[in-house]
Parts: sequence; structure tokens; C-alpha cells
Amino acid sequence: MITDSYGRTISYLRLAVTDRCNLRCTYCMPEEGLDWLPRNELMTYEEMLRICSLFVKMGVQKIRITGGEPFVRKDLLSFLKNISRITGLQELTLTTNGILTAPLVPELKKTGIKTVNLSLDTLDNGRFIQITHRNGLNKVLATMDKLLEFGIKVKINTVVMENKNIADIIPLVQLTKEFPVSVRFIEEMPFNGSSHEVSLSWDYLRILKHVREYFPSIVKATDPPHATAYHYTIPGHKGNIGIIAAYTRSFCGSCNRIRITPTGILRTCLYDAGKLNLKDALREGKTNEELQDLITNAIRKKTQNGWQAQNMLVAQHRQHESMATIGG
Ligand code: SAM
Ligand code: SF4
Repeated sequence: MITDSYGRTISYLRLAVTDRCNLRCTYCMPEEGLDWLPRNELMTYEEMLRICSLFVKMGVQKIRITGGEPFVRKDLLSFLKNISRITGLQELTLTTNGILTAPLVPELKKTGIKTVNLSLDTLDNGRFIQITHRNGLNKVLATMDKLLEFGIKVKINTVVMENKNIADIIPLVQLTKEFPVSVRFIEEMPFNGSSHEVSLSWDYLRILKHVREYFPSIVKATDPPHATAYHYTIPGHKGNIGIIAAYTRSFCGSCNRIRITPTGILRTCLYDAGKLNLKDALREGKTNEELQDLITNAIRKKTQNGWQAQNMLVAQHRQHESMATIGG
């Protein structure tokens, strides 16, 4: 088991396999995209597999594959199959924008994936284009249908943005009446890959108040351990609602997660600057024992919360990156 200096056990690894993406969500990256990382700076699948196996030996139970858009990286399915075979791994999951995903769902099912997080900020075609700068709502909805058809649990991720998708909050809640999906509204964070600042006008309390005005019967549900979302149910609805205070950072005390970026940087907090370059360590020929020592030391330096991590980043005159280069 890996434990940090605040006694938190690390059991959840989020691995970003690429920074590239086929959408351009305004809250994540500029319309022209990012300066994509050169391919030789990305970890290879072999390197990622070795690192993931090592983390599972050290106590990680759950791995999430993310990005950028994971499915724009070639041969992702073979990689997922290899990861799913790691002895001791209890849960493999992924986050996707759903553009390329629907036809791959039968294969995902075969890898044993039981839950997929699907990003969807609006049910309106015009707003989808405004937010993502691309067409594709039908493909995302087809992915949702296919996942449900194959018995894979769907968690919808919706970033709540003033002047962009407030009109979608209630229709997305209504989706949970007909479909057994969990719709999670996320506070917008400052990871848009530009100097454009985020001033949070829709925090979780405001989102909750808004939903409660339309659904006064909304009930607080029990949150699972380590949950980042506050869960709610509405009587008569097949699905449920979550609100993620990602900007407010009220869940850091029970954090069990770490991230690895596409270039192999270990980040022990979403808001930190990165603690260890695992790709370089691998390419220098470090043994598993040496890697374990490096990882254990890096995790000991995990900050108490996201505010402390952000203060350290600011002290180094560093800016927040795009979520696509961190792995959301
Ligand atoms: N491309 C995939 C997708 O969109 O699902 C996976 C990567 S994306 C970076 C992972 C998650 O991060 C998405 O659900 C997205 O909505 C969320 N995200 C990205 N930028 C964000 C921001 N600035 N604030 C809050 N959430 C953000
Ligand atoms: Fe791409 Fe996901 Fe970022 Fe949107 S949130 S631009 S889909 S990586």
C-alpha cells in the first residue's frame, strides 16, 4: 500500500495516454488546439504497461484511461486488453468524449470495463458546436445508447459554464428519468490551456440550488468512499445526479488518486506541477525497486489539498495547463 504523509492511501491511478483530441472544448483548450506533444515524448504502451503493473503491485486497485481523447491514440484497444490482464487490478475504466467510441463498445465490454465516463455538456446541437467547435452530438448520444445496450454503466460529465450551457442543466437532469445514467455536473476549473482566467460563477451550491428549484423532491444520497461527487437522487428517476466541487476542492481530505500525464510525469494532485518524470526514469534503465523508491518518495510529498498545490505552482511562476495534457 502507498500512503502519503497525511495518511491517505493511494489506490486510484489516472493515466492520460495522449494530449491530442478530436474536439476543442472551450474549457479545455483553445480553438486552434494545443502545441501537441511530439510522439517520442509520449510514453509507449510498453512503458505505460510496466508502470501500471508496478503501481498495481504497490496497491493501486483502479486505473482510469483518459487524455486528451484516449481513442485518438492508435491501438488503444490492444493496450486496454493488456492493462485489463494485470494481476491484482480490480477495476479498469475510461473517460471519453464519445465521438469515436460507439463502434468499439462491444470490444470494451470484452475487456471487462464496467463503467465509462462520457463527457457531454449539452443536448442541443448548436450549443454542442459552440462548446466543442466540432459537430458530433449524435455520435456522443449513440455512444451512450451503445454503452447502456451492452450493460456498461454510464457516468456523464458535464462542465457547468455561465453563458454556455446553463439551459442544459435541467434537460440533463431529465435524462436521468428515462435512462439509468449518473449525470455529474462539474465546476469549471482553470485548465483551459490559455491565460484565459476562470472566475467560478456556478459552484456546486448554486448548481444544487438550480436543480432543486425544478426538482424540489431531490434527495441527498450516500457518497461512496473517496467520491469526488456529492450524490443525489430524484424519486421516480432511473439514474442519479452528482455535483463535483472540482474548483472548490472540498474533497481533498479523502483523496486516493494520482495522475500520470502522457509524457510520464507523476502528478500527486491535479493542481500541482508534477513530482517525478517516470518516463525518464524508465529510459535511464531504473529497476522496479528503484522506481518504487522514487514513487514512494514522490507520493510522500503529496500536498494536503489542491489549494496548497496551486500556491506552490504559483510560487514557481507556472501556469495551469490544459486538462488534456494533465489527464482529466
Ligand atoms: N477527452 C475525454 C473527455 O472529454 O471525456 C477525456 C479527457 S477530458 C480532459 C476529461 C474530463 O475533464 C472531461 O470530462 C472534461 O469535461 C473535463 N474537463 C476538461 N477541462 C475541464 C475544466 N477546465 N474544468 C472542469 N472539467 C474539465
Ligand atoms: Fe478533448 Fe476531452 Fe478536452 Fe474536450 S475535454 S477538448 S474532449 S480532451
